Amino acid sequence: MPMYEYHCKECGYYFDVKATIKEKEEGLKIHCEQCGSENLNQVFGGFAILGGQAVNVKPSNSGNNGGGCCGGSGSGCC
Ligand SMILES: [Zn+2]
Repeated sequence: MPMYEYHCKECGYYFDVKATIKEKEEGLKIHCEQCGSENLNQVFGGFAILGGQAVNVKPSNSGNNGGGCCGGSGSGCC
């Protein structure tokens, strides 16, 4: 069963909801587990870490200046 992550706009609480796709298509009413509000954001693009395998997406050359394209403010190539 898929899991959906929600963020409550009222109290800022994050929680997961399990629902089938069918349930969701039929209009699932979801309430914040903490304050009961329906004013929720669904959170997409979260990292799914399964089986202990984490993916490191941090760039290795984050402090690089002037080396490549789009890296700094002065090169003007982009
Ligand atoms: Zn809430």
